[in-house]
Amino acid sequence: MSKRVLISGASVSGPSLAYWLVRQGWDVTVVERAPRLRADGYAVDFRGDALGLLEDMGILDEVRGHETHMLGTDLIDADGVRTGELPAEAFAGELEVPKPDLTRILHRITADDVHYVFDDSISALAQDGTGVHVEFERGRPADFDLAVGADGVYSTVRRLAFGPHQEFVKHLGMSGAYFTTANHLGLDHRGLLYTAPGHAVYTFSSDDPDRLKVSLSFATDSADVDRLDRARQEDLARAACADAGWEVPHLLKEMTAATDYFFASACQVELDRWSDGRVVLVGDAGYCAAPTSGMGTSQALIGAHTLAARLARHGGDHTTAFCEYEKQLRPYVAANQEIGREGAKRFGA
Ligand SMILES: Cc1cc2nc3c(=O)[nH]c(=O)nc-3n(C[C@H](O)[C@H](O)[C@H](O)COP(=O)(O)OP(=O)(O)OC[C@H]3O[C@@H](n4cnc5c(N)ncnc54)[C@H](O)[C@@H]3O)c2cc1C
Repeated sequence: MSKRVLISGASVSGPSLAYWLVRQGWDVTVVERAPRLRADGYAVDFRGDALGLLEDMGILDEVRGHETHMLGTDLIDADGVRTGELPAEAFAGELEVPKPDLTRILHRITADDVHYVFDDSISALAQDGTGVHVEFERGRPADFDLAVGADGVYSTVRRLAFGPHQEFVKHLGMSGAYFTTANHLGLDHRGLLYTAPGHAVYTFSSDDPDRLKVSLSFATDSADVDRLDRARQEDLARAACADAGWEVPHLLKEMTAATDYFFASACQVELDRWSDGRVVLVGDAGYCAAPTSGMGTSQALIGAHTLAARLARHGGDHTTAFCEYEKQLRPYVAANQEIGREGAKRFGA
């Protein structure tokens, strides 16, 4: 009988791991808290070995078909005067696509072989020498050989198996409000970046020429601001940008009008170990490098592939497989997290 694995999270690392494990004969279930495949998220980019993995998965050309084709980012001062330029690769890596397109493709190539369950979450995990007993918020309890947390920075699997978020989620000193607005600046596959002490505004237009994507970032003391209500977050953004020049007063008004607003702090996830018995973490859940690293998506793909490859090599010996997965990936993650910390400092944190 096939070994059974439960993966929590259907974004990047979860479906990527599912793809590889199905090929090894695993019986794979993916549970996703969202009621359907998530269509939110801005652009994500790929660098280094991640492109080779997309090719190995047979989706490189299709992913390339959604490339944002960004041309670069102009640096501007408080009067909107151009002071320099960042090349396209600075934000777009070697290939950049809208996140929902990537998520949709990863789901499509796994949907026939993987049992996807939406609108549910793991609520309890108990393991012994033979397996993991899992309870769900909605579905019936079930037993698996392994359970994987691919459920992002605020991973439920990590909280249940390793401990509370505050032990592992490190705030990098900045948070941001994200939204779209009409492209009143006429940007065409270009970005504008305005930074000042304590805040930074990045805006760009790519796949939809009528819309600007905006991030208003500002210095914060703690990621607890993520859990405040929207009105309070907006108050903080307005206070932090009170003296800001350029288009910021207009963008602050557009923030309040936006229907696609979301808020996120720049955080990293740091754990001494990525597995506990039969439970293992992959992607942002285990080792988020922060959005300022630009490496999150590549790391999620590479992490999933490394974990699957080690499980393939060691057959039923998950303990050795998890140990080697971590040993192989740690240096790569450490380097990406260093980039993430440096990036946060450049953004004024
Ligand atoms: C604002 C922002 C900008 C970013 N910009 C970039 C960029 O430019 N380039 C780049 O490469 N990366 C970027 N990233 C990072 C990138 O999106 C992540 O690193 C990458 O998506 C990690 O994938 P993941 O699958 O591990 O986690 P996630 O993409 O976070 O997915 C986690 C999934 O788990 C689900 N989930 C959560 N809780 C539960 C639960 N209890 N039960 C079941 N499911 C659950 C979520 O709904 C989600 O679908 C950015 C991230 C943010 C927040």
